[in-house]
Amino acid sequence: MTVRHPHGGHGESRDLAVNPVFSREPLRVPRYAMPDGEMEPSTAYQVVHDELMLDGNARQNLATFVSTWAEPEARRLMDECAEKNMIDKDEYPQTAELEIRCVHMLARLWHAPDPRDAVGCSTTGSSEAAMLGGLALKRRWQERRRAEGRPTDRPNLVMGVNVQICWEKFADYFEVEPRYVPMEGDRYHLTPETAVELCDENTIGVVAVLGSTFDGSYEPVAGIAAALDDLQARTGLDIPVHVDAASGGMIAPFLDPDLHWDFRLPRVASINTSGHKYGLVMPGVGWALWRDREALPDSLVFHVNYLGGDMPTFALNFSRPGAQVVAQYYNFLRLGFDGYRRVQRTCRDVATRLAAEIARLGPFELITDGGDIPVFAFRVREDIDRFSVFDVSAALRERGWLVPAYTFPKNRTDLAVLRIVVRNGFSHDLADLLLDDLRRILPRLDKQSEPHRDADDAGGFAHGAETKNPRRPGRD
Ligand SMILES: *Cc1c(COP(=O)(O)O)cnc(C)c1O
Repeated sequence: MTVRHPHGGHGESRDLAVNPVFSREPLRVPRYAMPDGEMEPSTAYQVVHDELMLDGNARQNLATFVSTWAEPEARRLMDECAEKNMIDKDEYPQTAELEIRCVHMLARLWHAPDPRDAVGCSTTGSSEAAMLGGLALKRRWQERRRAEGRPTDRPNLVMGVNVQICWEKFADYFEVEPRYVPMEGDRYHLTPETAVELCDENTIGVVAVLGSTFDGSYEPVAGIAAALDDLQARTGLDIPVHVDAASGGMIAPFLDPDLHWDFRLPRVASINTSGHKYGLVMPGVGWALWRDREALPDSLVFHVNYLGGDMPTFALNFSRPGAQVVAQYYNFLRLGFDGYRRVQRTCRDVATRLAAEIARLGPFELITDGGDIPVFAFRVREDIDRFSVFDVSAALRERGWLVPAYTFPKNRTDLAVLRIVVRNGFSHDLADLLLDDLRRILPRLDKQSEPHRDADDAGGFAHGAETKNPRRPGRD
């Protein structure tokens, strides 16, 4: 990756001038080159610490799905485990054991047919878990096609255009043709009919999202599975489903126990979730599970012996921190089913109440109401021409609130929305403070003469910096 100097060629003149209060001698060190010598740890700490003050306040970041609060006990355990490498399973057998327990708990939570024989692993997040899920679909399809003596050179994956960027990456990096179902009218995610329409003999699977990045809605997983059952009955094509439950995998089991989206549907081959989203762990941990051994081709599992013992691994990284896995186990143990239900219930209550209050303000119209995952999107009413969602986003930023504004993808690029992600720790109280600020800025925005049409000219922050598809919602 090329990381360009943000200040062009003026690196020299842009040295860090360290405040003399922090160091005995006045000190200037280069900003973009390694300093020649050492400095005191306390001086270096102060320099880094001070610079980081300019980062936004994570708790007011309503763009991210990723945990910004953890109990002191979880933080202490993470600190105690900071030196443990997850891959050293022979050396840290108890950390490895906690990972296995988490996989078993998730297998039960998601109704795997035989949870005593759970198949799954931790990852750095849902992105890595999605790569692994996608690779398993691709390899299974290839092995079946080869056995049938058919070509394997044109695999495709069917999904809604609303998928998170990790699926675009999977398709690009692993050379699978992505088949995106576009949005249409007020349909903002995949539906059974639109999914089946794009399937053929080269389809390695369909990705269904439980908690769409764009608006927080659940895709109809059971309906998609039923439509694929019907496709198989008509044509013989047997196409598995992977559920991207990055957020919903930790919401639906607690709040919507009767919703069939998981391994209760025989067509669901694999599921991913982000432990660091509604699993309530600090970043980076995710989980990937398969319904049974058959769903994860053995040819993808590597066996390494250089750490002692024989260790099966299915992962993109080798080394990885163990602390997050330990924190996940702590959360499961500490909260239990009822504790998770209480936390998620509160998030949903805050989200649905905040959405309803925002709808009552007048100028806004809800796209979703926070009743699936506790995330909702809203737009500025069509007849309002004084200000745009980008103006609202920029104005909220003056008080430290980070509420992203972005346009929807194909065929609804005309639709621009704001999105709010309610996480553990975003209380009714904080929601009221946000509402007060919204009420305060609206009269001013209503008096401005020209609305801004995109984030750049509103001075808002750029989204989707990583994507080829400009301005998709928050990267996580
Ligand atoms: C956040 C998210 C991802 C990516 O997950 P990370 O844990 O950030 O890697 C993938 N899919 C969906 C639906 C998401 O919400």
